[in-house]
Amino acid sequence: MKASLRRYYIQRYGDLYKRAKDIPLDVCVYCGDTRQTLDHCPPISKLEFIDVQKAIKKGLKFILYPACNECNAHLSAKMTIDELGPTLKSLIQKTSNKAAHFANKARTVLDRLDKMQGRPDGD
Ligand SMILES: [Zn+2]
Repeated sequence: MKASLRRYYIQRYGDLYKRAKDIPLDVCVYCGDTRQTLDHCPPISKLEFIDVQKAIKKGLKFILYPACNECNAHLSAKMTIDELGPTLKSLIQKTSNKAAHFANKARTVLDRLDKMQGRPDGD
């Protein structure tokens, strides 16, 4: 979706979106990390495919969920649980791989420091 069209939809329908109730607003609802933004559900980018007035009459809720930037970016235009599931699974896998990589790096740096300081290898 073009930025100008996105601005138009936010200007026209932004007020419909209300913050999610009964959930903590300081953590990402998807991964539990610190909240950095609010995720529009349904996504702004999907509004051009929806008859918004009809959706309102049918009871569609427009909700803002607390999210971290990473989840928000990964989920950008996903709308259904079927779409969200595999995307979140892949995000968690990537994040986990990254964490393992950095843990390994940190271990290597600590080992080198120990060697430089003449200490034996520690486990
Ligand atoms: Zn997140």
